[in-house]
Parts: sequence; C-alpha cells; structure tokens
Amino acid sequence: MQGTGDDIPTAQISYHGTSWQRLRLNLLTPTAIVVGAFVIACFMVTLCGVVVYQSRADALERARETSRNIALVAERDIERNFELYALSLQAVIDGVRDPEIMALAPRLRREALFDRAVSASYLGSVLVLDPTGQVILDSLSDTAPDFNFSDRRYFTIQRDNPNVGLYVSDPYFSRLRGRSPSIALTRRISKPDGSFGGIVLVAVQLAYFHDLFSGLQLGPHGSMALIGEDGVMVMRQPYDPAVVGRNISNASTFRKFLTAPEGSFTDTASIDGIRRLYYFKHLRHLPLIIMVAEGETDIYAAWTRRALIIGYLMAAFAVAFVGLAFILAAQLRHRMRAESELALLARTDGLTGLNNRRTLGEILDQEWRRARRTRSVFSLLFVDVDCFKAYNDFYGHQAGDDALAAVAKCIGENIRRPADSAARYGGEEFLVVLPDTSPPGAVAIAENIRTAISNLGIVHAASEYGRVTASIGAAAWTPEIDGDVTEVIRAADRALYDAKATGRNRVAVCYAQPALAPADGVNP
Ligand code: GH3
Ligand code: MG
Ligand code: MG
Repeated sequence: MQGTGDDIPTAQISYHGTSWQRLRLNLLTPTAIVVGAFVIACFMVTLCGVVVYQSRADALERARETSRNIALVAERDIERNFELYALSLQAVIDGVRDPEIMALAPRLRREALFDRAVSASYLGSVLVLDPTGQVILDSLSDTAPDFNFSDRRYFTIQRDNPNVGLYVSDPYFSRLRGRSPSIALTRRISKPDGSFGGIVLVAVQLAYFHDLFSGLQLGPHGSMALIGEDGVMVMRQPYDPAVVGRNISNASTFRKFLTAPEGSFTDTASIDGIRRLYYFKHLRHLPLIIMVAEGETDIYAAWTRRALIIGYLMAAFAVAFVGLAFILAAQLRHRMRAESELALLARTDGLTGLNNRRTLGEILDQEWRRARRTRSVFSLLFVDVDCFKAYNDFYGHQAGDDALAAVAKCIGENIRRPADSAARYGGEEFLVVLPDTSPPGAVAIAENIRTAISNLGIVHAASEYGRVTASIGAAAWTPEIDGDVTEVIRAADRALYDAKATGRNRVAVCYAQPALAPADGVNP
C-alpha cells in the first residue's frame, strides 16, 4: 500500500523568524567578533592615549604654575627690599642737601643721615661720593675711608646722565668688603643749580639673591636666575661663580625674555645644555628679569612612570582582548561548521543524499503557500520502485541499498529547475515536488525519470522486465484559498496505484481538478 502523506510534518523551522534573531545571527560571525574586538581595543587604546596625553599637558601646566608662583615669591622679596633701599638712599640725599644736618658733629650727622634699615644683613655700607668719586661719608664709620670710585660705571652713569634716577649696577667685586660679589644701587645728588654733586650708593651682596634662590625648590634639573635687562647675569641657581657677571644677551633664551613682560617657553639652556620649561618676568620697578626654569625630565618624571605603567597594561589588555576574540572566533567557526554539517545531516537522507521526510514537509509547506499566493499549478510525482521486496530477497539488503542510491541519483539528475526538489518519502518511495509545472510538464519529467531508472540496467531477475524499474504517479493542482497539500499527495498516490495496477514501469496521472485534465485525460 502506498503512503498517504497525511503524516507529513509541516515546517519545523519558521521562515518568518524575527528580524532581530536574524540580525543577531549575522552579527555573531567569527570575522565580526574579531573585527569588533579589534575596533574596541583600538578605541580603548586611543581613549587611553588621549587621557595620558592630556595628563602630560596637565603636568606641563602645573609646572608652569609652580614656576610662576616661585618667581612671584622672589619678585616680591626683591622689590620690597629694593624699595626700602631706594627710600633710604633718597633720605640720605635729602639729608646731604640740608646744611643743618651737614653742620652737625660727625657721629650725630651719621645717625641723622643713615637710618638703621641700611644696616640690614646682605647690605654693605651706604656711601656718599663727592663729584670726583671720593668717598666723603660712610654709614658705618664717622671717618670716611680713603677710596675713590670714579672709575665705577654706577658713578659715571649718574655723573653723565642727570635723569637716571635709581641705578642698579652690574655685579662687581667690592673693594671695601674683601672682594665680596655685590651690586650697587645709586642715586645722583644734584646741587640746587642742577649740577652734579656726587652720588649716594648702597651695595647689596649677591649672597642675598643666592640665599633667596637656594631656599626655593626647583627640582634636580631646575634653574633660577636674576638677569639685568642688558643681559648680565646677576645670580643663578645652581650657583656657579663663573656664570655671575657673564653677559648672555646673545643666548636664544635671553632674546625670548625681551619679547614680552612675562611669558613661558621651552628651550635648551646655553649654559648647561639642559632642556627646560622657562618662565620669565620683568620686575616691575627694577631693570631686572627673573627667570624660573624647571627641567623637562623633572616635569614629566612622574607622568612618564605613570604613562609607561598605563601603556604596558593597556597594550597587554588589548593583546589579551584581541587574542581572546581570536580564540572565541575560532571556536565559533568550529561550532558553526559542526552545526551546519549537523543541519545538513538532519535535512538529508543518509542513504540517497536526497531531502529526508522532515525537509520534504518544509518544502511542501513553503511551495504550497507560494503556489496558493501566485495561483500557479503545483505538481507532484510519487516514484515507487517495482517489486523491490523481491529484489531485496533475491540480491540481499546491501544490493537493495545500492539500487536505491542509483535510483535516487536518476531522480535527482532529472529535475533541473532550481525550485524543483526530490525527497525520499520512505523505503523505496520518493516524492518529487514540481512547483509552477503543468500536468504535461510533470508527466514529461516523470517519463524521463522512469526511462532513466530503466536504463540503469540493474538486473532484477524477479521482475517481469528483468531489470529494476519504477512506477510513477503524477498529480497537479492549482491551490484554492482553503486547499490542502495533502489532497495533491493523495491524488499522486492514487495515480501511482493506477500505474502499479496497469502493469508497473509506467507513469499515470491523476487530474484531481477537472479543469487541468486534457480532453482525453484519464481521471481515475
Ligand atoms: P511494488 O512493486 O508493489 O511496489 O512491490 P514492492 O515489493 O516494491 O513493495 P513492498 O511495499 O511490498 O516492498 C517494499 C520493499 O522495499 C520492502 C523492503 O524490503 C524494501 N525496502 C524498503 N526500504 C529499504 C531500504 O532502505 N533498503 C533496502 N535494501 N530495501 C528497502
Ligand atoms: Mg512501496
Ligand atoms: Mg515498490
């Protein structure tokens, strides 16, 4: 008895799976995982790089702030002290112009002329020089020492220029105080008629600047300097006696100091070849420039350590991340291959390689729907090997299997359109689905299959044809709105029964719908 088709399972896999599921499947490919991991790793490394670079800029900005603060502290100290010295000098000038004070006895005159502030540490004596440069008054002694400073620049400048005001000299070695390095602050004494009446001077030991600078922390490669606006070095930290008094007006760093009242830049020092961040500022009331410079290595020392640690960790993380993605992708690829092999196995028949019963159910379901949608003719062939029980009994089960595989191959080779498909229905029965195929077309294909099987020439002694043959039942149907595919299968089965009944090795058609039947068609 032939199968009825009633128990054919409908589609197991939904062809209308959600687009989200399909999207997820598409995204989760091995290549996508590796590319995704690579992109994420690149993004994280870039992000990390930006943060590290930003923290480098922060370190530079902090160093600039520190230099500015240090310069400010030094500037205030110098300006305040020099203002006091300038006031004291002015007081001496006022006293010298007063005949009453000048008429006093030497000790009283000294006390009236020189206030106690000028005895502060780092200060030499306050001297009054006559127009010839000879010392005539000394704040430390009632009798003036016999010295003449007419050769000093601080004297000649005041003598030759009535409007200099407070003059700050270049460093020199004091003749009065055992050659201690000093700078002098001088003011001109003008007589009532405006002519030159000598100068008053106070000497400031460079030890004042040395001690001021050495008390400020600048880091191992830091440097600090006080420079005259003419380029003469007044004091520099780290201290080097050879550098004090040197003219650095040709140094590139100094030339930059002259471009603005204050500013900062990075440059390599001409004195020691160390690269530093320079901050400079012109003192507001004195012809001096204060410069604070931090070594670049000091500025970035902590940052470099941190950046190296973060960089190594980030690189290790990125390599591990991408490596893991590679491993995951390899495993996924392996799994997908295994799954697709399994899926193929699950859809095909092991002996013949044709679609199995389960897949047939899906194909029927899909093609029936399509035929119903397009209102096209849907044809089926039921192929059954003749007297196959006898073949098995005569030649054995293995030979039977080989014959079935050969028959299946014939069927597969005779369906050529992409939509056509063949399946093993069970035992020695096969079903051929022919969408959009009219009854004559289906019969032609069936005839081709029957002839091809017969032409295989597989000897079958128990058959009246002497070879393996097959009977084929064909049925065609134009699906109605509420039609069911099982009706076509039943029709094909009926046609097959007819082919068997009329002698086997032949094709029979069941025109289940009269509209499809030819005028002389058989309709059992
Ligand atoms: P008919 O011409 O009327 O179709 O006769 P038949 O002998 O072919 O039909 P029947 O249904 O009586 O026997 C089918 C036989 O097909 C039974 C079984 O021996 C054989 N068969 C079914 N499946 C397999 C298979 O997988 N391998 C082999 N070797 N034989 C099979
Ligand atoms: Mg059978
Ligand atoms: Mg049979």
